[in-house]
Amino acid sequence: MVTIMKLPANLSRISFAASTVAVCFFGALLHGEDRPPNILFILSDDHAAKAVSAYDGSLNRTPHLDRLAAGGMLFRNASAANAICGPSRASILTGKHSHRNGMVGNIGVSSAFDGSQITFPKLLRDGGHQTALIGKWHLRSEPTGFDHWEILIGQGPYYNPPMLTAQGPTEHTGYTTDIITDLCLDWLQNQRDPAKPFLLLKHHKAPHRTWMPGPDHLTKFGDVFIPEPPTLFHDYGGLSRAATMQELEIDRHLHFYYDLKLPPRPGFDLSPNGYLVQARRFYETRFTPEQKQAWDAAYREENEAFYNALEAGMGHRDIVRWKYQRYIKDYLRTVASLDDNIGRILDYLDESGLAENTIVIYASDQGMFLGERGWYDKRWHYEESLGLPLIIRWPGVTGPGSETTRLAQNIDLAPTLLEAAGIAPPEGMQGRSLAPLLRGEEPEDWRRAVYFHYYEYPAYHAVNRHYGLRTDRHKLAYFYELDEWELFDLQRDPHELNNAWRDPHYRDILADLQNLLSELRTQYGDLHSDKIPFAELREMSVEEIARVSLEGPSEAP
Ligand code: CA
Repeated sequence: MVTIMKLPANLSRISFAASTVAVCFFGALLHGEDRPPNILFILSDDHAAKAVSAYDGSLNRTPHLDRLAAGGMLFRNASAANAICGPSRASILTGKHSHRNGMVGNIGVSSAFDGSQITFPKLLRDGGHQTALIGKWHLRSEPTGFDHWEILIGQGPYYNPPMLTAQGPTEHTGYTTDIITDLCLDWLQNQRDPAKPFLLLKHHKAPHRTWMPGPDHLTKFGDVFIPEPPTLFHDYGGLSRAATMQELEIDRHLHFYYDLKLPPRPGFDLSPNGYLVQARRFYETRFTPEQKQAWDAAYREENEAFYNALEAGMGHRDIVRWKYQRYIKDYLRTVASLDDNIGRILDYLDESGLAENTIVIYASDQGMFLGERGWYDKRWHYEESLGLPLIIRWPGVTGPGSETTRLAQNIDLAPTLLEAAGIAPPEGMQGRSLAPLLRGEEPEDWRRAVYFHYYEYPAYHAVNRHYGLRTDRHKLAYFYELDEWELFDLQRDPHELNNAWRDPHYRDILADLQNLLSELRTQYGDLHSDKIPFAELREMSVEEIARVSLEGPSEAP
């Protein structure tokens, strides 16, 4: 015990049978030289790695995220377990796949996150961290495991957000990305207990739909042509039927008014859906007069020019191109504010001296289609959606500007942060600590593949249910309700355009990957959840979903 305590907290990996022993150990650390690190966990919503310049740089610049990457480790191959918002958040909190934390989809009357589960914030708090959550939660149940929380209500608006705390509702005027940062800075400066290490979850709404830019960036990219992805007009040739059944095309499904801020005009039949028109009108009623004036001024001229072009006979492809430009520019404008605000909090950590003993994590809940295949939204197993940006700066541990291509997954974050605090992960946590990778080690027994499972169908955007795996070279997905597979060779076909499922050259590889998939489904206890309709799964308790996933649905009496 004494020997162990002399190890630096951030380098020790200690397993204890009983968590109480771990807590005692942690308590000892608190009073020693090796105080466990603080943790600032910045989570965004729908931020594609392609829109972080440390990853790509073809679309935009994110100087503050790049600065974080320059001081830490960038994960090139990080994935979600279920590439949609609420389920990804639940996987992050619990370190478990969806069928084990109960959050299989976003929608459902009784499918709120079960907050009685063990989560990493609870374990950190038990171990001595002061815990806070500020920003987007979107799990439809009250947060648990936090000494302080202030959350957006549901998705939350981009402007003037009403928020909730344990003590009741709060009101704010301004841009939500700025406000979340203001609240985090206030908590760090004025409410934090300096005697304890802290865990702060700074969770942003941006850059989630409907991509409303902040006052500082309303006209950014105004005269710039953002490069179009080569697959903007992809025809889904060779892919599964699922690809043709979806409803997330920029062309057919992105709404001119709700999504693209083009007010309807008599004589033009562009904005057919009454609900979405009402929703956009509601957003605009939330503006202050000054905000409304700036907003209208930013879009007026471009909107006018578009209507004029339509009247002059603008062709269908050019209309799609216009929609893409409006979509991507608004998206990148919200990212610009996000990045500014990451800069603000990094500055504070530097100026206060906290940076020296604070782990900073940046991640998105999943990725996002930015026009690839002609799509927006996420949900899919394709890299744009399943992949996510993940950057971790751990002072004294991560090599500055380091990178890894090892396979990481959102379920790994909980065990990673527990290890950082010297707390053993509880039984049943399915992720694996990334700490060896962060230390620059090359573990020989690192995982060969990540497993994923998307459940939410039938539902918005009509993405069929599928499960599968990704190795460092291949992607295999099974659309079980269609009995169709997709297999991609990521080395030869990084854009996942050539489905090799029926290619005889890949017969052996397919068989090997299908075996590996069976092993993963056994390992994670997800053998039967595909046999149960989503509408039934989403109404089940955590225990029921875990049981039927392992054992199968009960026989009717
Ligand atoms: Ca999301």
